[in-house]
Amino acid sequence: MTNIGFCSQIRGLRDTICGCCSKIIPCLSDPETRSSWGLKASLVMLHLLYVGVLFIFDKDLIQKTVNQPWYTAAYLFVLLATLAQYFITAGTSPGYVLDAMRVVNESHAAFRKTSDSKQSASSGDGSLTISVEGDQVGRTYSGSFSTPWTKMVMDMYPPGSSVRTWTCSHCNIVQPPRSKHCHDCDKCVLKFDHHCVWLGTCIGQDNHFRFWWYIFEENILCFWTVILYISYLRSDTLRAWWIDAIMILLLATLFMCTIFIFLLLIFHNYLILTNQTTFELVRKRRIPYLRGIPAKVFPFSKGICRNVREFCCTWGKHNMESVPPLEDLEERARPYTCSDVLCCRCC
Ligand SMILES: [Zn+2]
Ligand SMILES: [Zn+2]
Repeated sequence: MTNIGFCSQIRGLRDTICGCCSKIIPCLSDPETRSSWGLKASLVMLHLLYVGVLFIFDKDLIQKTVNQPWYTAAYLFVLLATLAQYFITAGTSPGYVLDAMRVVNESHAAFRKTSDSKQSASSGDGSLTISVEGDQVGRTYSGSFSTPWTKMVMDMYPPGSSVRTWTCSHCNIVQPPRSKHCHDCDKCVLKFDHHCVWLGTCIGQDNHFRFWWYIFEENILCFWTVILYISYLRSDTLRAWWIDAIMILLLATLFMCTIFIFLLLIFHNYLILTNQTTFELVRKRRIPYLRGIPAKVFPFSKGICRNVREFCCTWGKHNMESVPPLEDLEERARPYTCSDVLCCRCC
């Protein structure tokens, strides 16, 4: 009975706090927005905790700050840059299929002129660009093309593909290759990689580059912080046992996070070099156009150099890729010869 009363008091207190917050900041009245901002605040607090504890207990670091202020300034700059990159990535659209479709349909007249392998269309104010790569235009498909978008998208799929197969049942729009409907965002995302719970958004065509920069900066910050913790624990200064216990606990958790983030960076580097997405790698067998392709062939890869260049240069441009013909993929599966190595076939 006492427990029930205590729980209801806690619940009442929580509702009062939420009510006050909602009055001050009206957008917090939405539970989803509240949880998203709660997550962001927790992540910032976590960063401040690990860095703050160092500055509270490590007298050597404080002394170093006095003697070499540039060292601490550089460290704090990395911290601020990482947090800024986190918020920028979280606030960037991953590239929604709906937005791309709107641009294509609005630029119908300009788009119809092109029937070559390379087609392009841009929004009226030039703020958004759509580009399509491939050489599979002018083929026949089952289904009718009610909009320019439908025709353009179906040209990217192998012959015989059905419009119905690629129509999202939630958004009711035809998805280009490499897109997927995200049930958390309730939207179809171009070149869907994954839905990141820490950022509260999808990682897709338009924000994967920023996501890479975020995990890269987070790696530098984590490694630097681990080094500071280790140098503190290795120093000979006299200190209470409980301070050491706190520092060892924080170092152990930080070390695990650092290993995870480092592996995440390695994994995304691999995806970028081979032009794959996490979704394609994990669900290869469930994606119809990826079934039956030769093993160890990366269907969308254009060589390491071009993959990296496109990853760095095409973000924010709604770049869409056609599914390569099976003959091309079989040709790529051919073993490497000496002349292939000399000609840099992999690049
Ligand atoms: Zn959808
Ligand atoms: Zn999502």
